[in-house]
Amino acid sequence: MNTPKRVYLFGNGKAEGSAEMKNLLGGKGANLAEMNLIGVPVPPGFTITTEVCTEYNKLGSAKLREILSDDVHNAIRHIEDLVNMQFGSAENPLLVSVRSGARASMPGMMDTILNLGLNETTIQGLIKKTNNERFAWDSYRRFVQMYSDVVLGLKPESKEEHDPFEVIIDTVKKEKGISSDLELTTEDLKNLVTIFKQTVEEKTGKKFPDDPWEQLWGAIFAVFDSWNNERAKFYRKLNNIPDEWGTAVTVQAMVFGNMGFTSATGVAFTRDAATGENLFNGEYLINAQGEDVVAGIRTPQQITKIGSQRWAKLAGISEEERLSKYPSLEEAMPETYKELFEIQKRLENHYRDMQDMEFTIQEGKLWLLQTRTGKRTGLAMIKIAMDMLREGMIEEKTALKRIDPAKLDELLHPVFTKEGLAKAKVIANGLPASPGAASGQIVFFADEAESWAAAKKKVILVREETSPEDLRGMAVAQGILTARGGMTSHAAVVARGMGKCCVAGAGALQIDYKARTMTVNGKVYKEGDWISLNGSTGQILEGKIDTQDPELSGDFGAVMQLADKYTKMKVRTNADTPKDATVARNFGAQGIGLCRTEHMFFEGERIKAMREMILAEDETGRKKALAKLLPMQKNDFEGIYTAMNGFPVTIRLLDPPLHEFVPQEESAQKEIAEELGIPLEKVKARVASLHEVNPMLGHRGCRLGNTYPEITEMQTRAIIEAALAVKARGISVLPEIMVPLTSTAEEFEMQEDIIRKTAEKVFAEKQDRVDYLVGTMIEIPRAALTADKIAEHAEFFSFGTNDLTQMTFGFSRDDAGVFLPVYLEKNLLKHDPFQIIDREGVGQLVKMGTERGRKTRPDLKVGICGEHGGEPSSVEFCHLVGMNYVSCSPYRVPIARVAAAIAALND
Ligand code: PEP
Ligand code: MG
Repeated sequence: MNTPKRVYLFGNGKAEGSAEMKNLLGGKGANLAEMNLIGVPVPPGFTITTEVCTEYNKLGSAKLREILSDDVHNAIRHIEDLVNMQFGSAENPLLVSVRSGARASMPGMMDTILNLGLNETTIQGLIKKTNNERFAWDSYRRFVQMYSDVVLGLKPESKEEHDPFEVIIDTVKKEKGISSDLELTTEDLKNLVTIFKQTVEEKTGKKFPDDPWEQLWGAIFAVFDSWNNERAKFYRKLNNIPDEWGTAVTVQAMVFGNMGFTSATGVAFTRDAATGENLFNGEYLINAQGEDVVAGIRTPQQITKIGSQRWAKLAGISEEERLSKYPSLEEAMPETYKELFEIQKRLENHYRDMQDMEFTIQEGKLWLLQTRTGKRTGLAMIKIAMDMLREGMIEEKTALKRIDPAKLDELLHPVFTKEGLAKAKVIANGLPASPGAASGQIVFFADEAESWAAAKKKVILVREETSPEDLRGMAVAQGILTARGGMTSHAAVVARGMGKCCVAGAGALQIDYKARTMTVNGKVYKEGDWISLNGSTGQILEGKIDTQDPELSGDFGAVMQLADKYTKMKVRTNADTPKDATVARNFGAQGIGLCRTEHMFFEGERIKAMREMILAEDETGRKKALAKLLPMQKNDFEGIYTAMNGFPVTIRLLDPPLHEFVPQEESAQKEIAEELGIPLEKVKARVASLHEVNPMLGHRGCRLGNTYPEITEMQTRAIIEAALAVKARGISVLPEIMVPLTSTAEEFEMQEDIIRKTAEKVFAEKQDRVDYLVGTMIEIPRAALTADKIAEHAEFFSFGTNDLTQMTFGFSRDDAGVFLPVYLEKNLLKHDPFQIIDREGVGQLVKMGTERGRKTRPDLKVGICGEHGGEPSSVEFCHLVGMNYVSCSPYRVPIARVAAAIAALND
C-alpha cells in the first residue's frame, strides 16, 4: 500500500501544493502554496494535511507522532535551510507559527500559536540576533500566554472571570501606575514570563515545556483538537460545514511585526467588504503582532490615505492630527505600501475574487501570511460580482455563482445600523422566522397593536403564539415575537409573507397576559417597554435600535436578469392578497403558486361570515353564510388576477383547521351569538362539537369540500366569475384550481366533479368561458405513492412539503418546536426538515410522486408551495427532480430565482 503524503512543503517560490488542493491542505495551506508559485513573498513552511487530522482523531497523539515524526523533522530542516536558522539554536534560533486551516474558512474558530521555539536558551539567540531585548522578552511572554491557553488548557475559572494572564498583567500595570502594555519594561516582561509559567504549573499541574520539539508536537495536536472545540462545532453547524472535513496544520517561519517602528502587521481587503466599492482598504498597526489587531488593544490605522482621510472625517479628527498621530501605511511606509498594493492587485487578478489578506512587515520587508476569499455583506457580494463581470475579470456564469442566494435576504429587509447593534444587549434567542430588523414597544394584544399604531407608536406584538385573529395586529406591528411555534408556524409563515420581521419559538419567554408582562431569565419587561428583534438571527434585544432601509441597487436587477437567463425553473409566489401579489411581481414572480383562500377570511366582517358558515348546523345555514362570502372572494380574486396580469394563479380551495376560526373566549362567543340571534349555549355546543383532538389530521382540506360540497361550489364560482370579469376588462387570466390535502384519487375526482360542473354553470350564465386547470396539492404520503392514479385526473401537482414533512416524519408542525432544537443539538437531525427539505426521506416521496404523475401524464405541471420553495438547497433539489416551478413568499422570490439559476448551472 502506498503511504499517503502527509506533509507539503513551501518556500522560496516553490511549493508542493497549490490553490486547487484546498480539501487536503485547507484554505490557508493551499493559498500559501499558491502565493509561492506566483511570486508573492511568503515565509517558508509546511502544511500537514486535513487527512492527518482524521488519522489523529482515530489513532491518538502517541501513534500519530510516531507516524509523522520523520516528515515533520524533515520539514523543519527544510525551513531551516531556507531561512538559515536552526530550530532550538542558542545562537540563531528559528521560531515558527502553528496555525489551523480548514477547507472552508472558519475565521477565529480554531487555534493559532505564535513564536514557538522560545525557551530560556533560544531567547538569548533571539536577543543577540535582533539586538532588542525588550522585543525578545515580549515575544516570549506572548508565546507562554498563547501556548498555556491553547495547548495546556489554562482557562479562566468561570465565564465571568478574566483571562488569568491579563489579570496578572493588569496587576503589574496597576502597581507601576501605567496603562499600556507598551510601557512594560524588559524587566517587567522577564518577570511576567516567570510568573506565567508558575501559574500554569499551579493551575494545570503541567510544567511548561522548554524543549522546542515538545512545544511543536503539543501545538500540532492542539490545533487538530481545536477542530472539535465548541466554537468550531457551533460555527460548522451554522454554516453547514461537515464535521468529517478536519483541519490542516500549517507551520511557518515566524516573521515579526513587533521589531520596532519599521515593523508592522495588518489585514487588508482588495475591495470594500461592506459596500463592495472597488477600493483597496484595511488596517495596520506599527510595531505589533497579528493578535494585537484582532484583540483591539490599540486602535489600528488605515492602510490607504483615502481610507484614513474618510476615517478621520467620521471620527472628527483634523488632517494635521491624522497625519501626525494616525498616518496611513501609504504615508508612513510609502515603498512597502506600493509593494503591498501591487501584491493585492496581483492576488485579486489571480484568484479573480475579492481577497482578504494578512501581512507583516519585518524591518521594512513585506511578507504575506494569508490570502483568502473575503467574506462580504449581501450588498458587497452583488456589487463585486457585477463589477468584476463588467471589468471582464469573470464571465456571467461565474458572476451568478458568486451570489449566495440566502444572503440576498439582507438586501430585502430593514437592517439595524452597525453603531446601534454594537451597543445593544441580547436578552434571549428564538428562531429567525422572518428576516429583518425591528424595534418597538411591547404590546401583548392585536387590538392594542392596532390602537397604539394608530397613535403613531411603533410596536412589537408579543404573543404566546399567533392565531388568525392576530393578523391585523401583526400587520401594523414592526415585528412579531412568539414564545412558541416553529418556522412553519402561523406567525412565521404570515410574517414572511408580509416581509415582516419575526422571531418565533423563543422558549425563554414567560408571557403573562394578565399582568401584561414578559419575563426573560428573571427580568420583567412590561407593556410599553422597548425591545428590538433581529429576524435574521433570532436575537431579541433590549431597547430601541436604529434601523435603515435596504437599498436595491441597479446591480440587484442585473443579477436577477442573469438568473432568469440561466434558470430552468420558474419562480412563483405564495400570496393571498393583491398587495402581496404586487410585491411579488415587483420581485419578479411569474405567477402565484399558492393562494391560501382561508387567509382571505381573517379580517373584519369576513371572519364573522366565515364563523357563521362554520357554526351553521345544516346546508341551508351554510349556504346563507357562503353567499355573504362569495362577493368578497370574487373581489379578492379579481385583484389578484389583475396584479398577476396573465401569469397563472393557483387558488387553493379552503383548507382551514376549523377550530382556528371559531371563537374560544366566552366574550367572543357571546358576540357571535348576538349577531346570529342564537342562544349562547348553542354556540358553545357547536364550538364543542367542532373540537378535534388532532385538528391537523382532522376535518381539513378536501375532506371539508367533500363533506360540505357547497363550499367548493361557492369558491369555484368566485374563482370563475372573477376570471370572467377580469377577462372582460381585457386582462388575460389563467386560474388553476387546487384541491388541498388529497390522499386518494377518489377524493380528488369528487372535488373535480363539483368544480367542473360549477364552472360550466357559470360559463352558461355568463355566456363566456375561460381556460382553467384543476390540480392538487401532494402533501400526504399516500398521494405521492398513488400519484399515477391521481394524475389521471389532476392537471397539475403542487407539493405541499410543510404537511408532507409533517406526515412523513410524524412531527407535528405546531409541536415540533419542543424537541426539534434538541434533535439538532444532538445531531439526530442535520437540519430542521421544515426549513431544508429532507432529501433522503421526504425527497423520495417528492421524486416518486413527480415520476409517477408524469408516467400517466407526461406534461404534468409540477411545483412546490411548501416553505421549502424559498430555501436555496431545497430549490436545488426541486430543480434536480425536474419541477416546473417553485413558489415561495414574496420576499423570498429573488432568493429562489438565483438559487434556481445556480442549480441549473451546477447541474
Ligand atoms: C403545505 O402543507 O406545504 C402547504 C403549502 O400548505 P399549508 O402550509 O397551508 O398547510
Ligand atoms: Mg398543507
